[in-house]
Amino acid sequence: MTEEEKKGSDFERLLDESVRIHGHLCPGQVLGVRMSMFGLGKAGITDPRGKDRKNIIVYVEIDRCATDAIQSVTGCSLGKRTLKFMDYGKMAATFVNLGKKDPGTNRFRGVRVLAKEESRNTAMNYFPEIKEKYQRQTAAYKVMPDDELFAWREVSVEIPEEDMPGRPLRGLNVKNAESMCRTGERSERKACFYAGPVQGGRITRSCTDGFIFSSQLRFIFFIIHHQYIIVSLTQCS
Ligand SMILES: [Zn+2]
Repeated sequence: MTEEEKKGSDFERLLDESVRIHGHLCPGQVLGVRMSMFGLGKAGITDPRGKDRKNIIVYVEIDRCATDAIQSVTGCSLGKRTLKFMDYGKMAATFVNLGKKDPGTNRFRGVRVLAKEESRNTAMNYFPEIKEKYQRQTAAYKVMPDDELFAWREVSVEIPEEDMPGRPLRGLNVKNAESMCRTGERSERKACFYAGPVQGGRITRSCTDGFIFSSQLRFIFFIIHHQYIIVSLTQCS
């Protein structure tokens, strides 16, 4: 088997897997699989779900179909703390190689891959015989060259210790809350806690910014990849 044939069969296998997890074949699945294969290759990660599984973190910048494909190909997930969601609304992902650390820092080398905005139009130059737009896009994304689909650059990313995979560094009890806030120094300062005593205690971001879940229901159930996740609704969670 030539290198090109092997790449093709790897692609088909990875696409099959991601379609099974995502639930349907769509342009996002093809794009996400291609983006992952491309980004992993550029980042020097050859076996993300095997020998390199402890050496990878992926930052995704959008919650769309392609994100499921990225999760499927890389094996990274929120639960493993190896998938980070940055809500930037960009069809982009950064593949960080934890094996490439800048000495004396928390900075790691990676590759940010951005789906080119114009690739949607370029896709329409392919397969004129396919009339339906999404089917045509799906077929085109399978065969378009990488440089028509993606822009990329090498980046370095500072990853604080508490954002690394593994158990949370510590948990802190929160005033009036039934649940503990599991955090680290940085998230305490930047994301989860607002510094300083508030009415004699500390409060979480969900207290001050408003908790988005209505208190009409006692519990909300999320289903993520066949696992039920229960969020209890309290005044301050
Ligand atoms: Zn989809």
